[in-house]
Amino acid sequence: MKRWGIGVVAVAVLVGSAACSSSAQEDGAASNTPDRIWEYRVHDAVSRADDLADAGLDLLEKREGNDLFVLGDDATGDQLRALGFSIAVNEEIVVPQWAPPPLRANNAELSPADVEETYYGGYRTVNAHYAHLDKVATDYPGLAKVVTYGQSWKKQTGRGGYDLKAICITKQAAGDCALSPNSAKPRFLLYTQIHAREITTGEVAWRWIDYLTANYNTDATVKQLVDTEELWVVPIANPDGVEIVQQGGSRPQLQRKNANTSNETTTTCSTPNHGVDLNRNFGSHWGGASTTRSVCGETYLGPRADSEPETQASESLWRKLFPAVRGPNPSDPSPATAKGLLLTLHSAANTVMFPWYYETVRTGNDATQRAIARQLGSITGYPYGQSGEVLYAASGSTDDWAYEKLGVAVFTIEVGAGGNCSGFLPAFSCQASTFWPKMRPALIYAAQKAVAPFKP
Ligand SMILES: [Zn+2]
Repeated sequence: MKRWGIGVVAVAVLVGSAACSSSAQEDGAASNTPDRIWEYRVHDAVSRADDLADAGLDLLEKREGNDLFVLGDDATGDQLRALGFSIAVNEEIVVPQWAPPPLRANNAELSPADVEETYYGGYRTVNAHYAHLDKVATDYPGLAKVVTYGQSWKKQTGRGGYDLKAICITKQAAGDCALSPNSAKPRFLLYTQIHAREITTGEVAWRWIDYLTANYNTDATVKQLVDTEELWVVPIANPDGVEIVQQGGSRPQLQRKNANTSNETTTTCSTPNHGVDLNRNFGSHWGGASTTRSVCGETYLGPRADSEPETQASESLWRKLFPAVRGPNPSDPSPATAKGLLLTLHSAANTVMFPWYYETVRTGNDATQRAIARQLGSITGYPYGQSGEVLYAASGSTDDWAYEKLGVAVFTIEVGAGGNCSGFLPAFSCQASTFWPKMRPALIYAAQKAVAPFKP
C-alpha cells in the first residue's frame, strides 16, 4: 500500500471527513473518532462521473483507463457501493504530522523575513507568497510589478482573509503591465492553486517567478522572454483555502474550495468541506458536468454563476489582460493573429487539457490547441486532450470562461508524478527533484506560444 507523502510516516492521522456532516465540527479540531481515509478506485466510472459529483463525493482529478478515483472514509465506500459502483481501495491516505505556522493577524504588514514562513516541510504559506512577490519587485524594480486585483471571500466579508495578488514580470517600458487588454507585448499568465490542496501548483509558480528574475542577465532564453513579453503570475488564486490547508493543526487539511460558509444555511459542513468550488463557479456553462448543489460537496458550484469574489476578481483581471477576440458561437475560432496565453495548474492527474471542458465538442481552434497540448504532453510525459477525453467533463471552469468570453488560448496542466511524489501532498523534496525540472521547460514553451498561439 502506498502512502501519501514521505518523511514521518509512522503515524496515521485523520485527514478530515470527506463527506458532508450535519453536525458542526471545530475548524482544524482533531476528532475523537479518527476515521481512516482511503482513495477508492471506482471501476468503469467515466461514463457516470456526474453521478459521483451529484452525490457530493470527492472526485479526484485522476483517471486510469475508465476508472475514476474518490477520496473518503468507510462511509464513502458504503455510499459508492449503494450507488452501484464496483470499487477497490487504491491506497490509504496517510499524512505525516507536522507543526503549522502560527496564524497571525490577517492582513498583517508583511516583512521580507516572511518569505521564510513554511508548512509541511517547506511549502510556502500565503503570507510567504505575498512577501515573496514584494521582495521580487524590490529586488528587481526594472523587471517586476505587484498588482492587487481583488479580495478573498473572508476579506470581503470582514473575517480576516487576504488580498488577491498577481505579479507582472517584464523588462519594464512605459505602458507595460497596465491593466488594459491592448498591451504592446504578448501576455502569458500562469494561474495556480485555485484548488487549495493542490500544493505543488503554487510552488511551481514561486520557482517560475524566481527563474525569470534571477536568470535574466545570464540566460538568453529567459532574457528573450522577459524582454518581449509580459509574464504574469497569480501564485495563490484561492488564499482563504490555502490558509485552511496550511493551518491544519497536526496535518495539512485537504481543502479544495474557498472558505465561503454563507451557503451552509440548512447544514453545517466539516472542515475541509466548506466553501464553493471556484473551478465550477465561473459563468461558462455553469451548472453542467461534474458539479453538485450539495453545499458540502467538493464540486459545489455555488448559489449562482460567478457568485464568489475570487471568481469575479479573476474574470475582471483577465478582461483587463486579454482582449475579447472570439465570436459568440461555440465553434467560432479566435483569429490566428490573437496574442496571449493563460496556463492554469492543477494536480495530480498527469494530463494536459484544453477547451471545451463542459463537453467534448471541439472548438474552432481545435487543431492549434491540440498541437500545443501535444507538445506540452511531449515535454511533461502526460497524455493530452479535452477534459472529457483524458479526465472527465467539467462545467463552470476557468478555462472555458476565458476561452468562451475572451478567446484567449488556455491550457491546464495537471501536475503529477508517480511513486513517492504522487498525490496532493508530495514531500517538499519532490518539488526540486521532480516537479520543477518537469514543469520548467513546459512553462517556457507555453510562454513562447503566447506570441501567436492560434497561428497554424
Ligand atoms: Zn484542481
